[in-house]
This record gives sequence, structure tokens and C-alpha cells, in this order.
Amino acid sequence: MTENYFAYKDDILMAEDVALDALAEQFGTPLYVYSKAAFTDHLGQYIKTCKQYETANLRPLVCYSVKSNSNIAILNLLAKQGAGFDIVSGGELARVAAAGGDPHKVIYSGVGKTPAEIRLSLEHDILCFNVESLSELRRINQIAGKMGRKARISFRVNPDVDAKTHPYISTGLKKNKFGIPFEEVLPTYSVAASLEHIEVVGIDCHIGSQLLDDAPLLEALDKILNLVNQLEEKGIRLSHIDIGGGIGIRYEDEQPVAIPDYLSRVFAKIGEWQASHCPDRQMTVMFEPGRSISGNAGILLGRLQYLKTNSGKHFAVVDAGMNDLMRPSLYEAYHGVKPVIKRNVPAQAYEIVGPICESGDWLARDRELAVEEGDLLAFMSAGAYGMSMASNYNTRGRPAEVLVDGQEVHLIRRRETPEDIFALETLVP
Ligand SMILES: *Cc1c(COP(=O)(O)O)cnc(C)c1O
Repeated sequence: MTENYFAYKDDILMAEDVALDALAEQFGTPLYVYSKAAFTDHLGQYIKTCKQYETANLRPLVCYSVKSNSNIAILNLLAKQGAGFDIVSGGELARVAAAGGDPHKVIYSGVGKTPAEIRLSLEHDILCFNVESLSELRRINQIAGKMGRKARISFRVNPDVDAKTHPYISTGLKKNKFGIPFEEVLPTYSVAASLEHIEVVGIDCHIGSQLLDDAPLLEALDKILNLVNQLEEKGIRLSHIDIGGGIGIRYEDEQPVAIPDYLSRVFAKIGEWQASHCPDRQMTVMFEPGRSISGNAGILLGRLQYLKTNSGKHFAVVDAGMNDLMRPSLYEAYHGVKPVIKRNVPAQAYEIVGPICESGDWLARDRELAVEEGDLLAFMSAGAYGMSMASNYNTRGRPAEVLVDGQEVHLIRRRETPEDIFALETLVP
């Protein structure tokens, strides 16, 4: 059970031991506020449970998904706690390096790796490329050859299981762009095994995000283990199995599987499989969690600018918009909304919208709130895919980010200014 690091104390919403209204005063709004203890607790649940199941021949590695929240202070915090990293771009590799992360614990996922990104990854000698197509494999082989190196690779397999989540965040069905189609996996590995500058080391999958039930993940794992056996028969020996991320969090009233329960089922399966297939060989089990670590470790604070009524519909206009928190407009995602200071005024149902010139610019719909103009609102569960998806649309500087640690507050990203935003632009003479 995850503790709530953002709770009321005497009618004031806090981040750990710091009142959120004080943070808004000091740093302005919109503002992302993170709880250090929440990050540490969530990653700790992965790491501690993995430790329980670790044996001499079964090694775990937790690779935090950088794209869910990529601030270098966060990456640094997680690296110190032992995390590896799952990256999806050269930019994220640069972040991991700047944060002091270990490149030998970095795996690189994604369907569109460019030559420059592949070269950078080989220079950093990352742990593994999670390869998504034969063309990508050939490109990696060629670049590694030119650099006089061997690239460690795993194929991202599309296990064709239904993650039963939102279509935009479901990635493991046949019709998705991700991974190698299930029936092509064996021949694809044979090609890889024949290439001179490729070292085949693993297999991976990632079937979707915000999964509340682990049954689809365990079904995918069964299919993967089956493939590992078939590859072994063809003389291709793998040393790691990576079953991706995807564990969901509570946004509203969801009941996601507990991380230790999920991990114990994974290790039970893999342990049993290993005992009967390769008891004497070292295997690494890898995970790529993002949202389950960062999602409930952060909130977005916004200040209510105006209350207005159009044709009987009540709108609450805040200074945070879809450019700051894109999930509602992109996925129709739900974020809890809480007043930072509880008030004794009549409650009313509002659509909470931002200042952006788009009808899709809404953050929450039909929420009963007792608020007045000038009040602060907290958009809950915004630690994952919040700031990392934020943009400068409407020339709005992205929010500042602060990390709270007990009573201490650290500014980990200052607010962007308009000058920051157009600094890279040039007038034509
Ligand atoms: C986004 C992503 C993850 C993380 O997913 P969560 O649902 O945030 O845990 C892991 N692996 C890959 C390949 C991804 O693209």
C-alpha cells in the first residue's frame, strides 16, 4: 500500500511537511511539486522485493522509464538508490549521463533510433538496445562495425496480448507499431545471431501502461519464456528477460495490483522456469517501471483565475493548461482536483479549463468544488507524463519544479521565461 505524501493537515494540503500555499507564494504557479519520499518508497518497493528473490543465478535490474519524469534531480535520486534506466532517445541518454546514472544499466527502447542516437549509445557502452525491427538491427550492426564494437541487443517482442487499457497507451497488440510480430520472432533472432557486430543477449516486451491487473503481463511472460525455450533449441542463448513497465496507479478509485505482489508472481514464474530449464546459468530479470514510480510522487499546482458561466455551464479557469499537463486532453485522463485550502463556501460543479486557445484545453470535468477566484488547486497524480510531456504552446514557459524532502524544499527546475523560449530563434537579416 502506497502512503499518501500529499495530505491535508488542518485544512491545508501539504507535500510531506510543507504547505502547498507557501510553495505557490515562493515559486509561483503553475508549479510541479514532487515528494522525495514518494519516489524513494515506490522505487524501494521494486528494489526491496527484487532483493528478496535474487539468487546467484537470478539477478534483477529495475530500469526506471525516463520518459515518465526525466528531471535530472529525480534521475540522480533514483540512480543513487540503485536504479538503471530505460531510455527512448539520445536526449534521455544525455540526461541519464548528466544525472550520474550508470550507462551500463541503460537499456534503449523505441521504434525510431537514428544513426546519431545509436552512435551515442555505443560510445556510452549502454547495456542493451531493445530492437524493434530488422532494419534497425542492420543499422546498429553497421554502425557498431564502423566503430569497431559489438552491440548488445534484445528484441522487443509484440506478444499480442490485450493489456485492457486506453488504446493510446496499449502497445502489445498485433495492430500496434511496437515490437517484432510474434510469429516473426524466431527468424528475426536467427538473422541477429548471424551478424558480426551484434551480440544477442535478451528478449523484452512492454505491452501497455496503467495496467491495473497483472494477468496480461503474466500472460506475456509465459509467451516470452516459451520463446526463450525455442531460441535455446536453435542454439541462441539469452541472458536476460525484460518484461517492461506498465503497472498502473490510483488516479481516482482504481485498485492497481500491489508492486510486491506483481513481482512475487513474476519471480515465481521465472524461478520455476529456470529450475527446469537452466538452473546453472545466470539470468537477469529486468523491469521498466515509469508511472508506478513517478505518477503519485507529484502534483501540479494551479491558481484559479476566473469563475465564469456560459449558457448555464460553470467554468473554473486556472493558470495551468494543456501545455503543462497534457494527459486530460490527449487521453481524456482523470486527475483528482483538490483545493489547497479547504473553504466554507457553497460547492458547485465546474469544468476546469486552462488559458490555452483550444477547446480541448481542459484539465478536469464536472468536479464539485467549493472555491473562489484566487484559490489554489492541486491536480493530483501528475508526477508521470506531466512535466515530461509539457510544451511551450502559446509561448507559455513550462512550470518550475520543486522537490520536497520533509521540511526542505529544492527548486529542481526554474520556471521558463519568454526569453528562454525564443532564445534559439533568429531574425532574418
Ligand atoms: C513508456 C514505457 C515504459 C514505462 O511505462 P509505464 O506504464 O510508465 O510503467 C516502459 N517501457 C517502454 C518501452 C516504454 O515505452
